[in-house]
Amino acid sequence: MLTNINARLRIVLLVIAAALPMLAVSLYGIVAQRQAAEAAALDEMRLIAELTAQRPEQMIQGARQWLSTMAVNIDALLASRGACNDYFNRLAPQLDGLFHSAGVILPDGELYCDSALAESRVRVTAGDQPVFRTAIATGQFTVGEFRVGRTAGKPGIDFAYPVPGAGRQVRAVVYAALNLEKFAESGEFQRTGTSSRSANRLVTIYDRNGIVLAQYPEVRYRIGEKGQNPRVLERLSSAYHGVFTDIDQKRVQRLYATEYVGRNADGIAPLRVVVSMPTAVIFAEANRALMRTGIGIVLISVLVVAGAWYGAEVLLLRKVRSLLDMAHRVRHGDFSARAGLGDGREEMAQLGRAFDGMVEELQQRDLRLKQVLQQLNAQAVSDQLTGLPNRRFLWDALEAELMRGRRKQSPLAVMMLDIDYFKEFNDRRGHEAGDLVLKNVASVLRTVVRGSDIVARHGGEEFVIVLPEATEETARARAEALRAEIAALRLTYGGEALEPVTLSVGIAVSADSHESGEALVRAADDAMYEAKRAGRDRIVLRNA
Ligand code: GH3
Ligand code: MG
Ligand code: MG
Repeated sequence: MLTNINARLRIVLLVIAAALPMLAVSLYGIVAQRQAAEAAALDEMRLIAELTAQRPEQMIQGARQWLSTMAVNIDALLASRGACNDYFNRLAPQLDGLFHSAGVILPDGELYCDSALAESRVRVTAGDQPVFRTAIATGQFTVGEFRVGRTAGKPGIDFAYPVPGAGRQVRAVVYAALNLEKFAESGEFQRTGTSSRSANRLVTIYDRNGIVLAQYPEVRYRIGEKGQNPRVLERLSSAYHGVFTDIDQKRVQRLYATEYVGRNADGIAPLRVVVSMPTAVIFAEANRALMRTGIGIVLISVLVVAGAWYGAEVLLLRKVRSLLDMAHRVRHGDFSARAGLGDGREEMAQLGRAFDGMVEELQQRDLRLKQVLQQLNAQAVSDQLTGLPNRRFLWDALEAELMRGRRKQSPLAVMMLDIDYFKEFNDRRGHEAGDLVLKNVASVLRTVVRGSDIVARHGGEEFVIVLPEATEETARARAEALRAEIAALRLTYGGEALEPVTLSVGIAVSADSHESGEALVRAADDAMYEAKRAGRDRIVLRNA
């Protein structure tokens, strides 16, 4: 799989792999931070619930204390109903309105006296209330559940203090009914906790049945109502206390902390405190930190990847590409290509220099090869002895000139020249002297013809001259001039003067260059032989 990934991606992957442990540590850090924040929040909520529970706890203890002092006077109270009523009536203002009523109940459940009753003519039974039943049955101080008092008509909960009589008998129950409205107002529990988050805190005190007794922020209409969140009630009734999260009716996730207040003889806590706060508020700071760190990690990752991406380009890929580019150019024959990666000591620069040296060597070899080839080419088309183009060159050049002549509708002349009696000359003067003559004849031919004409050694002592655009007259005139020049040539060999040589010349002219080169050369050759037959040292012209 890795084989198909380009170098840049490989480098980026490598860098990511290298950065991974750091990212992992940072991530672990965030998670740990979040967990610590969560644990701290749970602890704080637990503490707040505990602190909040202290106020009602003290209130219960206070009520118990207060009722116990009244129990001391039970003989006096039970002496007369009227006096009892008066006593509790007088007491009422002292209660600060915290209790809406107080009084005494007889063991049979009959209401003996009450602060709300000035005079009791009617027999009121209160013994059906569970709080009194429990107090009478157990002989223990009992805190009741929410109810609207029959005498005062106000919502509250009862505190029942049984006064022991002879043996296990309860002589009477002294009671007081908490005024919930007053209790809610007095709520010191409202101010527990210091953080700004306390504004988002909801504190509710429930009775044992999940009826709301007090709430902060204050929602009076809820007092006496059943708690609205069935799951919270379930937790409360299943004797759960601690911290948990749940979704409230407004679909807000909240952290709840519950705490029990007091303990009745039946083992059940009569009051329960529930403190709750939206988890979003609790974890706001932790979440912000999480976000910050998260964004930091993402930014760093992006920077790392971007750095690797561009770093790879600057540090490596640019050089690799320049090497590739050079290799490509060299492959297409451009030996002037150089990587030019500088004279640094790093490996890429070294590689660049190695490549450059290699290509430099290739370039020089290429140059030498080209020179040799040029020489070989020149040799292939020229004659060694005279330096004139050879027959092969002649045929190519002739075809090219004919083509041009055809296009321009111009004439072309071919001249065939042969030295007369050259065999004899060789026999007489030696082969080397013959060579000297051949060389000199060639140089005369070369000097006499025009630049556009072609002089070639056709073989042996035969030469061919191609004269583009030459008419019969021009060709004949040129041949005459040549013959004169050659005849005037005086050569010496080995200190001895050599006798002059003569030429037999055959000329074939094409008026519009439409003949083939072969036909023209054959015609010029025929004309030359005709000149030989006619006695040599002459010019014969033949129309092709
Ligand atoms: P003709 O007048 O009929 O042309 O007689 P000729 O002797 O010139 O003709 P022939 O074809 O019989 O002989 C050509 C001679 O040219 C033969 C050879 O000795 C001589 N020859 C050809 N090539 C060379 C060369 O490269 N060097 C020398 N020295 N002689 C050459
Ligand atoms: Mg010959
Ligand atoms: Mg000859």
